[in-house]
Amino acid sequence: MLENLPVLLLKKLVLLPYQEVRLELNIELSKKIIDVSIDSYNSKLLVICPNNTLEINPTAQDLPSIGVIAKIKSKIELPNGNYRVIISGINRVLVSVYKNIEDNVDILEAKVKRTYIDTSNKMEEAAILRTLKSVIESYMEQNPQASNSVINTISNITDLDMLTDIITNFMPFDIAKKVAYMNEFDYVVRANNLIKDINLELQVINIETKIDDEIREKFDKEQRDYILKQKISKLNEELGINVDKQTEIAIFNNKIDELIVDEKTKNKFREEVKKYSYTSESNPDSSVIRNYLETALNLPWNVESTDERDLKKIKSSLDKEHFGLTEAKQRIIEYIAIKNNNANINAPIICLIGPPGVGKTTLGISISKALNREFCKIGVGGLNDATELTGHKRTYLGSSPGKIIQSIKKCGTKNPVILIDEVDKIVSDFKGDPSAVLLDILDQNQNKEFMDNYIEEPFDLSKVLFILTANDISLIPPALKDRLEIIQLSSYTEFEKIDIAKKHILPKIYNEYNLKKIKISDSDLLYIINYYTAESGVRDLTRVLEKLCRNIVISEKEIKSITKKFITDVLGPVKFDFNINREIHPGSVSTLGVTPYGGIVISIETLFTSGEGNIIMTGNVKEPVLESVKVACSYIKANYKKFKIKNDILSTNDIHINALKYSIKKDGTSGGIAFTTSILSAALNKEIDSKTCFTGEITLHGDIYKVGGVKEKIIGAYNNGFKIVYIPKENENDLETIPEEIKKDIKIKCVSNYSEIYKDLFVNKE
Ligand code: ADP
Repeated sequence: MLENLPVLLLKKLVLLPYQEVRLELNIELSKKIIDVSIDSYNSKLLVICPNNTLEINPTAQDLPSIGVIAKIKSKIELPNGNYRVIISGINRVLVSVYKNIEDNVDILEAKVKRTYIDTSNKMEEAAILRTLKSVIESYMEQNPQASNSVINTISNITDLDMLTDIITNFMPFDIAKKVAYMNEFDYVVRANNLIKDINLELQVINIETKIDDEIREKFDKEQRDYILKQKISKLNEELGINVDKQTEIAIFNNKIDELIVDEKTKNKFREEVKKYSYTSESNPDSSVIRNYLETALNLPWNVESTDERDLKKIKSSLDKEHFGLTEAKQRIIEYIAIKNNNANINAPIICLIGPPGVGKTTLGISISKALNREFCKIGVGGLNDATELTGHKRTYLGSSPGKIIQSIKKCGTKNPVILIDEVDKIVSDFKGDPSAVLLDILDQNQNKEFMDNYIEEPFDLSKVLFILTANDISLIPPALKDRLEIIQLSSYTEFEKIDIAKKHILPKIYNEYNLKKIKISDSDLLYIINYYTAESGVRDLTRVLEKLCRNIVISEKEIKSITKKFITDVLGPVKFDFNINREIHPGSVSTLGVTPYGGIVISIETLFTSGEGNIIMTGNVKEPVLESVKVACSYIKANYKKFKIKNDILSTNDIHINALKYSIKKDGTSGGIAFTTSILSAALNKEIDSKTCFTGEITLHGDIYKVGGVKEKIIGAYNNGFKIVYIPKENENDLETIPEEIKKDIKIKCVSNYSEIYKDLFVNKE
């Protein structure tokens, strides 16, 4: 049966039977075809796809011989004039001829003929249908984009012809393939082709999925690795560990290349890096090597700060920070002056000796500041293990470099000022002699190649400026003492303390606490010094002044000056009062001593008890003191007439002498004239003025010999409120070192024989 139908040419779409498409038509001709079809062909038309889809204006030869009859299901004319139509494919037909419609010449009309294929093998058809359904189901399963509704549609179809068209319709075939399916009348062939094509699609899908999975897996792994790395890096960052070993190794190698050290040392470091590179992270050695490399390579092998060369600047910087301490400051200036002429000069090894709080440590810090050097302090008080200074071998668990190399590392330069504090308190015992090691460290012939047990490579210490401190020079091992330039710092007088407080301590506190200058009179400062501190230096004074200033900061009222009332309010009742008027007895006398902590006053008392001339000494005294007392007794006995005492007073009584107040060991002979005075005072039953004190050694003939530490002793006496001090004439020269303010305030009597003292105290008094 032949049928004439208007032809609609669709280039980009293949309409198959059982397929419904929605089209939006804007071309006038297409719209006209639709109208003609509706008007004259019962809404039917032939939809074809040109053989050559690339041809813009296909001619009759380009038109296919097979097309699909379609029915226009609806047509809507849109406001813009376009037609929206839904057309539905009915069946494929053979086109016998194309010709123009007579009254609509631009529209083609096709003469079409339906063709029926008769497949006789129904069994085969059923089998193919089943296979086709099963492959399409697998395809749907594998293809997540496919819609479930298709499956439902397909499962109910039993007509193979229909099934093939429906399946072809939704398969993602390209136009050419779809055209091929459209052109095939034999549905069994189409079905077989479909099975093949769908299987092929399935394979593609499988490969795609595999690739996808691989990519995802790789991506997942990368993602996981990335996240893990981030986490590890964060953790390591928290722990201060560098993550990437390779980067770390590269950094180590770079550092080694940049070091200006012996090639031998470099090679040793390179060896360590190599060892590190093949030691697994889980091996504990790994972190030992890494620590070693980090420590060794970060040492300032060739980093030096540039010394300030301007001597005036250095002096003013030192003076700004510290009062006095002239000798120490001068020595530093001399060193730099010489160094300016000869850069290779060895640095002096200065040892500052003096009581606590006189500025030894802080002077070290100001020296470093003035010279523009780094500073580090190593405390060696109580140190009995030399390896503390020179480090432990790496074979020890948790080993590290010694204090010297640690300080150098902390400073970051090879020429810092290193203050070795309390060298007089180094202990030498079975663990070794740290002072001997210290000797090597300070020895400028050896310290160019200082060997730390941990680092195992020589480090040059010759550029370091070592400053040592000690309280008691007598406790410094002689071999070490020999190497040092000793600079003695003495106790401060009250006047010096006032000056230090006004010019240094208070301004520093104001600055630190961000306080405006507070008024405080000299007499109030003196009050604080005398009644709230008892020290040679100014450490307690600093603390007390800090406490006062802190109270000003927290006070609600504005305090502009520190008054006595404020002082007692903040500090409480006075802590030290040496002027307390104790009851004085005959035999009570004061002598002077010197300790590493400055001059002190020692009270002694003598009491006669019936006996046989035994001498009893109490108060932690040592042999030399006892001998000195024996000399005094013999001298008095021999001169009993002159002293107007009873002949047998010293032989019919036991003489008890007690040294009071300080628990320190008294082992000098400088108490000679004080003991003589105390015994005579007891024997004559005459009191000695409480503001008078004595220092001097006595001979059997009453001659008075030179003693040590006179300056410290006089400062001690002065700070304790004494007004008269007897000293040996032989010590007269020492008076030059005594500050004028003290000399003005205290009477210093220089005597060469005891008769002069006797005259002063007992005769003239009478
Ligand atoms: P040392 O090391 O001798 O025991 P420090 O150096 O620790 O003493 O000094 C203790 C405090 O006294 C520091 O606050 C320091 O600034 C101050 N000080 C000591 N001597 C002086 C001084 N001559 N000039 C200024 N401040 C000083």
